[in-house]
Amino acid sequence: MSGAPPAELIRRKRDGWPLAAGDIDRLVAGIVDGSLSDAQVAAFAMAVFFRGMTREECGALTRAMTSSGTVLDWSGAGLDGPILDKHSTGGVGDKVSLVLAPVVAACGGIVPMISGRGLGHTGGTLDKLAAIPGYDVAPDLARFRAAVRVAGCAIVGQTTDLAPADRRLYAIRDVTATVDSLPLITASILSKKLAAGLDGLVMDVKVGGGALLPSREGASALAESLQSVAAEAGLRTVVLLTDMSQALGHHVGNALEVREAIDFLTGCRRERRLGAVTTALAGEALLLGGLARDAARARDAIDRALASGAAAERFARMVAALGGPGDLLERPDRHLPSAPVQRAVLPRWSGFVTAVDARALGLLVVELGGGRRRADDTIDPAVGLADVAGVGEAVGPDRPLAIVHARSASDAEAAATVLRSSMTLGDYCVPSASPAVVGRTPERRGTAASSDSA
Ligand code: URA
Repeated sequence: MSGAPPAELIRRKRDGWPLAAGDIDRLVAGIVDGSLSDAQVAAFAMAVFFRGMTREECGALTRAMTSSGTVLDWSGAGLDGPILDKHSTGGVGDKVSLVLAPVVAACGGIVPMISGRGLGHTGGTLDKLAAIPGYDVAPDLARFRAAVRVAGCAIVGQTTDLAPADRRLYAIRDVTATVDSLPLITASILSKKLAAGLDGLVMDVKVGGGALLPSREGASALAESLQSVAAEAGLRTVVLLTDMSQALGHHVGNALEVREAIDFLTGCRRERRLGAVTTALAGEALLLGGLARDAARARDAIDRALASGAAAERFARMVAALGGPGDLLERPDRHLPSAPVQRAVLPRWSGFVTAVDARALGLLVVELGGGRRRADDTIDPAVGLADVAGVGEAVGPDRPLAIVHARSASDAEAAATVLRSSMTLGDYCVPSASPAVVGRTPERRGTAASSDSA
């Protein structure tokens, strides 16, 4: 590494001086080639955590991390449609990607979605898909491209050569309390998305107790940072702020969430808030890709894709192309794992749910074995919470708080205690505190984002 040594660059950042783009390039090169030690990477991350970055520095970090590996090019792949993607900052029960990717594909978009594994209280899309027997979450590039060609969408994990700087930096941030830094989150997310060769990106930034950045101020600042750095890098991006003050949809847990996504796609069962978030994000994707002229037409196209079964068919094609069962949609119970113990947890008294600790629900699923505390933990795909009561719902002897799916009776017992303390009950029904979609960056009047019905 030529120029100032890494320790000097870290010192500059530590003391609050901005780094030049060339300095950032050298640090990122050192992260990838290993010439920066873990201690130096951690010190750099901590310096950024406390000192922040200017927009220019964040843009330079994003560019350097993007070009630290392969940048995908879909132009020669014989695909007819805009390359679109959606990314979420992570939530509890968030299975939107499983529904949105096939919906957008059915509407004419091409969705090569690179997703992550879950860590901590939020689930990961990849872990959900790994619950499908045979589904290859880490295909080589040829299989990934083939699946995109066949289905119009494919959801897979980050390949080793895509933004490798982020892979190392994120792993170190994760164990050094430096994940929740605005510029580091921005560069981490956008470097992977820019490397995926997209024409348009829809971001779902969660707000509320179960979110990465729970406060509205933090989430809005992240939305603004993502939108402006993406725009500067030439990636058209819209960010929606969506509510994560309670679980999204009926179920939380990997196989359970795949089941809910299938039920949604096939029309068996559709939870209203999940529908609202999915429709709003998919609508923005169609608008970004020029596949709909306005929000109303986008909404019609999405409704048609769902009602006609075209979206469900895209999902089935994607699963089969990536090695999963060809009849998953027809016979989900035959293929998806189920937990040996299923226990309905009744409230101690009847009432209405007035608040949910979404973070606690996510951690409860981790505790059951459905998530990771450490990056190398293995996951039990079958466990989780089914039919979780939402804010405003009446609960009592006929309506449990949720059904715990557990490996053992003792796990279920422990989960019941935590579940009861994660939900606040009252005597009166209060309206849900927050709509499912709470904001948009850039602001625009009369968008799909203003809709809150499925
Ligand atoms: N998701 C990412 O990909 N990176 C972050 O830094 C945080 C969330």
